[in-house]
Amino acid sequence: MNTLADSLGRRITYLRVSVVDSCNLRCVYCMPSKGIRFTKRTELMSPEEIGIIAKAASSLGTRVVRITGGEPLTRPDVADIASELSAIPAIEDIPLSTNGIFLKDHAWDLADAGVTRVNVSIDSLNPDRFREITRGGELSRVIEGVRTAADAGMRPVKINTVLMKGVNDRELVELARFALENSYTIRFIEMMPLSSNVSFQPGLFLPAALARREIERQFRLTPSTQAQRNGPAVYYDVDGYESKIGFITPLSGNFCERCNRVRITSKGKLRMCLFGDDMFDLLSVIRQGGGVEGVSAMLRECIRWKPDMHHLGIGRTSSATLEAMSQIGG
Ligand code: SAM
Ligand code: SF4
Repeated sequence: MNTLADSLGRRITYLRVSVVDSCNLRCVYCMPSKGIRFTKRTELMSPEEIGIIAKAASSLGTRVVRITGGEPLTRPDVADIASELSAIPAIEDIPLSTNGIFLKDHAWDLADAGVTRVNVSIDSLNPDRFREITRGGELSRVIEGVRTAADAGMRPVKINTVLMKGVNDRELVELARFALENSYTIRFIEMMPLSSNVSFQPGLFLPAALARREIERQFRLTPSTQAQRNGPAVYYDVDGYESKIGFITPLSGNFCERCNRVRITSKGKLRMCLFGDDMFDLLSVIRQGGGVEGVSAMLRECIRWKPDMHHLGIGRTSSATLEAMSQIGG
């Protein structure tokens, strides 16, 4: 079978596409308050160009294409992107990552266009703290957005919470309860160092093991036997609830050996690792007429450059180019 696998035998079945690098929010851990230069709208990939990349990847075994950003819902043609992807028979799953602010307005259209499920960032249930973390976000809109996505049939709904010591560590139980009582999955993510946050990341860093201990004061967790282990999260079943709690441990528990993904930046560059700086310009291949064939040849050629692992540490980033997570899409 035609599959894309790297020199360690890791099969690539999952593509994350950052469809835009700008955002209507400015979360403190993701980007600086100012000074970032965003890609011009005319330089972003069109829905058709994203479709060409996804077709090429699907011919080599990719089955999941995530729409991420920046904030994907700031693109007026985001449903067209989903439609391009859902027209590719081999793509089985089209998840969306969003901050949720515009989700209420888009959820039904996106579900109709083929978006299967949604991940929404919620780092606090306190509206003032939420506004501070996101530098201006309105929590109530996000919660309405999440509810609408669930009503529109997106399943599972996942909440992503970045762990921050002294910021949201006292409300982890509350966040877990909010998710469990609404049948959402929640994942607690260790804050990763980027060049824009590396000065304060050590002060905010909270290891997932401590977060789990805190949550276990209220809920009985047992390692989940059902959850898939090809993603970064380690999942736990929770006594009395149907949904799960996950922990993503890029720093305290490296999961690179089971990495199944590559990324496409908002400028149409193939990036083999979130924290690997080698990038290959797929958009130029397309704009020079290379089509699906040209892109799949490039994917095959470049996969050997996928690094074995990242080399992050607390207060130490391993990418010189990654200034804001929004550039790559998380
Ligand atoms: N705007 C969308 C959102 O916020 O979900 C999608 C893009 S965002 C870059 C994707 C994910 O990356 C979010 O869950 C966000 O919390 C996470 N993220 C951003 N910066 C991070 C960091 N420094 N460490 C850990 N996760 C981070
Ligand atoms: Fe925007 Fe998402 Fe980054 Fe927050 S995490 S600034 S919502 S891209």
